[in-house]
Amino acid sequence: MASPSKLRIAIVGAGIVGVSTAFFLARAGVGVRLLEAHAPAAAATGAADGAVSVASKRPGAMMNAALAGIALYRELAAQGVLDGGFVSRSTFLVAVGAAEAAVLDGHAEALASAGVEVVRHPTSALARLAPALSPEAEGAIEVRGEGHAIGYDVVRRLIRAAELTVERGVTVRNLVQSSDGGLVGLDTDRGRIEADAVVIAAGGGSAELLGLDGVLRPRRGQLLVTERAPALNAALPGAIMSARYLLSKASAKGAPVSPRGYGLVIDPLRTGQFLVGGTRENDATRPIADVEAIGHVLADAVAMVPGLAKLRLLRAFAGLRTAVVDGLPLIGRAPGGDGVFVATGFEGDGICLGPVMGRTIADALLGRPATLDLSPFDPGRFLAGRVAA
Ligand SMILES: Cc1cc2nc3c(=O)[nH]c(=O)nc-3n(C[C@H](O)[C@H](O)[C@H](O)COP(=O)(O)OP(=O)(O)OC[C@H]3O[C@@H](n4cnc5c(N)ncnc54)[C@H](O)[C@@H]3O)c2cc1C
Repeated sequence: MASPSKLRIAIVGAGIVGVSTAFFLARAGVGVRLLEAHAPAAAATGAADGAVSVASKRPGAMMNAALAGIALYRELAAQGVLDGGFVSRSTFLVAVGAAEAAVLDGHAEALASAGVEVVRHPTSALARLAPALSPEAEGAIEVRGEGHAIGYDVVRRLIRAAELTVERGVTVRNLVQSSDGGLVGLDTDRGRIEADAVVIAAGGGSAELLGLDGVLRPRRGQLLVTERAPALNAALPGAIMSARYLLSKASAKGAPVSPRGYGLVIDPLRTGQFLVGGTRENDATRPIADVEAIGHVLADAVAMVPGLAKLRLLRAFAGLRTAVVDGLPLIGRAPGGDGVFVATGFEGDGICLGPVMGRTIADALLGRPATLDLSPFDPGRFLAGRVAA
């Protein structure tokens, strides 16, 4: 491959992953072509909650990646790149009922064993700690050192900080390879783009480009946003996550999961509003919200924080997470050559992981030593034989 400054790199997708990759390459002085079928953050990145969090994770590769992701958000915030776009806060996992309390106990131990700072708050402490919480709450664990960032806002700030140009309305059709299997570039609906390396960060659109039918699946999430309520907002010390959310993520093995994957996260935003979610629906292919799901989420939210009943609902919306059948994203070089990089399948973690994965891919393209082990996410586990470049 050419020296980094001479590399012609094309990135497919201007979601948080593609934009982060472009940001770190641009900071290293490498020009990129950032190709986007619609507009920056048009897909999952623009329809997400923004938990930058390990609270719902089990120890393992995803937790390690998320811890690195949180650390990078702090770095970018300290450098002024995110300029107030990253809010530091704790996540409170709250149990209602004995079954949830038991799930929470086990989960707290798992988090602590991985070195995450966890504080247990007994039922008796909750009225003082979080006066807006329902008296039904039976204890909580506080996961410290977490944060929140709105995906489309991060994308906007990274584009501005690195003065990136997003080529909007360019749909990539396929990879182009020479007869000996070397990478030539990409065919788009606006013509061919030659490249020494390409990064496929196209979310759900990656399936068609890489021949990953049956490997990537949409998993819909529905969210709602309330009006501003500063006093109520101040009465919550951080994000509230129902212990049931762990069940909806199937983190607690053997626990029953509702078909809609209802979980509950109530995020007090710095605007004074609340962002509340949501669902985790398998195989819903359209990003649309429906009354049944939003009604259910609202009822759960009011049961957890009764004061929410007095607020007006401003907006309900839905997005499609791109999930991989084995639960781990696909990140790294496509097998068979070093010209094609893949970064997709982040499901419900791409806001947290986008910047750190963008940096890791940029480092790989620049020939720098890896700061994060990508082997658990090796796309070769599904791509072997599908991409020859
Ligand atoms: C309801 C909901 C809640 C979420 N909450 C959180 C959360 O709290 N914390 C968290 O970390 N994550 C969360 N996520 C997940 C997160 O939003 C995603 O993992 C992340 O945005 C994925 O980013 P991406 O860049 O990989 O993909 P996307 O944002 O999907 O971007 C892919 C881009 O590629 C473009 N594209 C596709 N095909 C082509 C093509 N052929 N040619 C050109 N362009 C193409 C698309 O238009 C799109 O803009 C949530 C997601 C949803 C839906």
